[in-house]
Amino acid sequence: MKSRQLVAGNWKMNLTKQEAQSLLAEISGMMADEIHGNMPVVLFPSFPYLMMTATQLQSDPRLKTGAQNCSVEKSGAFTGEVSAEMLASCGVGYVLAGHSERRAYYGETDLIVAQKVLRILQAGMIPVFCCGESLDEREKGRHFETVQRQIEAVTAALNEEQYAKLVVAYEPVWAIGTGKTATAEQAGEMHSFIRGLLKMQFSQAADQTTILYGGSCNEKNAAELFRTSDVDGGLIGGASLQSRSFISIVKSLP
Ligand code: PEP
Repeated sequence: MKSRQLVAGNWKMNLTKQEAQSLLAEISGMMADEIHGNMPVVLFPSFPYLMMTATQLQSDPRLKTGAQNCSVEKSGAFTGEVSAEMLASCGVGYVLAGHSERRAYYGETDLIVAQKVLRILQAGMIPVFCCGESLDEREKGRHFETVQRQIEAVTAALNEEQYAKLVVAYEPVWAIGTGKTATAEQAGEMHSFIRGLLKMQFSQAADQTTILYGGSCNEKNAAELFRTSDVDGGLIGGASLQSRSFISIVKSLP
């Protein structure tokens, strides 16, 4: 079976070009010196830095370039949008879809997220599909129901081959950028619930699906989370902006 492990850094709307360049150099240097495993490590900088990132990372096949978003449209008169095909032609291998910040601030519905996942796959890239409940949904005990709805909206549209490529990131909204992390127990029960859901559609492919945890994951809590069954790695926001903390998180993979 292929390894499911992966760590990803979502830089969001942070860093100047010079800062991004330095961070890329530091991360690739530390990867070469300190990380012996073969798992992919994906960096998600802002659009203007994607080509620079792909170039700076090309000497280490474990380091991959990801984009934080793409258009739901294929091509045409959509001023300001960036298509999946454009990203693929710039050396991008992974694209985020369904991040809670895009759902909350840019009105991305389950349907839009599902369409983006298809665009990403059709352009030959890997979607990192994010799902997760709000604090209110968790407090009302509706977290499984929310995540099931978000997942089924996407998986219903996929064939088995596409399904096998999907990366899922479980990111409880109440844990993103708040310093509150899900406990290993909370993450573990949701990750095994997600794998169970995926298995109902394509059992073999779901065994291979990478399921990441995201939400205030840092160098102190990563090891415990990553030891949890069905947690295959992390999608890291704040802590991915510092090379030392990000590499410590990569090292926390068991
Ligand atoms: C994220 O935005 O995907 C994320 C996990 O952020 P943070 O690690 O800062 O909570």
